[in-house]
Amino acid sequence: MPELPEAEVVARQLRARILGATLTDCRVGRADIVRVGLPTLDWYRGKRIAHVERRGKSVVLAFSSQDATRYLVAELGMTGLLLFGPLAPTYRKHTHLVLSLDNGRADELCYWNPRRFGRIYLLDRAGLNAFTAKRFGCDPLIVKWESFRDLVKARRGRLKALLMHQQVIAGIGNIYANEILYRARLHPYRTACRLRGGTIKRLYDVMREVLADAIQDGGSSVRDFIAPDGTKGTYRKRHLVYDKTGQPCPSGCGKVIRRLVGERSSFYCPACQRK
Ligand SMILES: [Zn+2]
Repeated sequence: MPELPEAEVVARQLRARILGATLTDCRVGRADIVRVGLPTLDWYRGKRIAHVERRGKSVVLAFSSQDATRYLVAELGMTGLLLFGPLAPTYRKHTHLVLSLDNGRADELCYWNPRRFGRIYLLDRAGLNAFTAKRFGCDPLIVKWESFRDLVKARRGRLKALLMHQQVIAGIGNIYANEILYRARLHPYRTACRLRGGTIKRLYDVMREVLADAIQDGGSSVRDFIAPDGTKGTYRKRHLVYDKTGQPCPSGCGKVIRRLVGERSSFYCPACQRK
């Protein structure tokens, strides 16, 4: 968390508010968080934000001058947020980067991350391509059904681990993996390559539906997630199994939601999601 839906909500808000804005100044809080892949942040000053996109759980801002484009990649990691300033006092402590922007009026974009799992990377085109190729597999919202089927068929590991494997499928974390598998009636520990075509199709359709619904609802505000404008997402109200150990299965099957403790907790119904 934030996962794909939250990162997408962030990218859309940035696009709506600061696309075309010029960077007038930047202040770095902690230099170890801002990984300066290029010698300096100076180049970015005076450049325009030409586009904003999401890659996996990260948000990429492209800054352009007439002859070049460079990128700022903000990893949202476990607890990272991009917020429009000025910030409320609670956020001042862990703000590692502040971008001052001019978009006809003064604006600010701040990178806040208290647990410091995420980083900011400054990259040129070749750097971005290498960064993307190494870290991000296919995007669940873009991948074609046939490619998804082939990818699942090729993996011998557990299904849930596959859904969360960023280098294979980028953007799904623990919350959405649990919600997707419950709705697709698949046990988290099913072996990926043993699923039949029809089952993989059901998983594919459910995956896209869950992610699209979550984006529509502004994401899930579990722990601290808020969008850049300070609003919370409401998809959490539609969670069926995540963090619901001991509660009755929403399908009415009569069983209760169980928790499996692996590298990340899995929440599932033992009757509706058979191994
Ligand atoms: Zn059930």
